[in-house]
Amino acid sequence: MSWRDIVGQTRVVDRLRRAFEQGRLTGAYLFVGPHGVGKCTVARKLAQAVLCEGRSDASFEPCGTCPACVQVTARPSPTHPDLEVISRPDDKSNLPIDAFIGDREHRSREGLCHRMALSSTRGRGRIAIIDDADELAEDAANSLLKTLEEPPPRTILILIAGSAHRQLPTIRSRCQIVRFQPLEAADIARLLRMHSESIGADGSLSNEAIERLASMSAGSLRTAGELADTELLRYRDRFIETLGKPCWDPLATAKDVTQFVESVGKETPPRRRRMRQLVAVAADYYRQLARHMVGASIEGDAGLVAAVRHAATRWNRGPLAAVACIDACILAEQQIAANIHLTTFAECWLDALAEHESGERTA
Ligand SMILES: [Zn+2]
Repeated sequence: MSWRDIVGQTRVVDRLRRAFEQGRLTGAYLFVGPHGVGKCTVARKLAQAVLCEGRSDASFEPCGTCPACVQVTARPSPTHPDLEVISRPDDKSNLPIDAFIGDREHRSREGLCHRMALSSTRGRGRIAIIDDADELAEDAANSLLKTLEEPPPRTILILIAGSAHRQLPTIRSRCQIVRFQPLEAADIARLLRMHSESIGADGSLSNEAIERLASMSAGSLRTAGELADTELLRYRDRFIETLGKPCWDPLATAKDVTQFVESVGKETPPRRRRMRQLVAVAADYYRQLARHMVGASIEGDAGLVAAVRHAATRWNRGPLAAVACIDACILAEQQIAANIHLTTFAECWLDALAEHESGERTA
């Protein structure tokens, strides 16, 4: 894959290209933006450009065939000795400190910070990509500060997060922030066509299905891929319809939502993932409601447009109440990572939404 295949992030890629060509890549980046818009893909591509051993010196385009390129792009995870990618383990609620400075017996002798200080194995520098940086435990974030403050020579650390504000100010101030925008629906459709085999649809997505998924994706390829799951799609439509109804019942809805989340199986990670998907669905609904109330167009499929229009006819609390509901969803998303009881969670979250809607709670 070439830089040209990275869809919808031209501004970001051009900025990195200029920095690379002028020898000004910095030691610490914070990539921020919604899920599924290409932050990880760009981070991996940047690693490949830096570590490639086959490109001509000035070129930002990795050759794609040298041993380094092959190791960086290896699946499921890169095998290049100078590239590390870490993310929150499925069974953990955050990125633990051990990953950065080693466990208790090996403090400062293992972990990412230790390895970043070693010299490069293949001579092109070292790169670490920290995914899920929103979920850095506070002590883990603090353990990173020294590495961020004085990155060892020829190292690049890339933190990937939803929002810069979720990072400690001490982290934020040490990184160059690179913002990623949601993708256009047309770009999502193009990506779905390119990757339809990897989203579990066996390449059998019809053009009509692709267009519909793109319109529902809120600019996120991940959301579009998840909605290719017909059960989730069906439930999403019902859930949006409920939210659009006057005086919907938060307790009954919480029960229904929990039942749907639990139907995915007994394991916690898929249940959390599903709850997160529903929070994202609600966040998008309120975002579109706020847009509609200030006169902007509703971006979404026919079901979403209908629910938003329906809600707007009886919504008398102004766009700020819709914004308060978006905030409640953002807060809820952060809480899912912490080990919360899902039924209680759904009740609190939906109760907050209903209260913002009725005016019983103010932001
Ligand atoms: Zn190469």
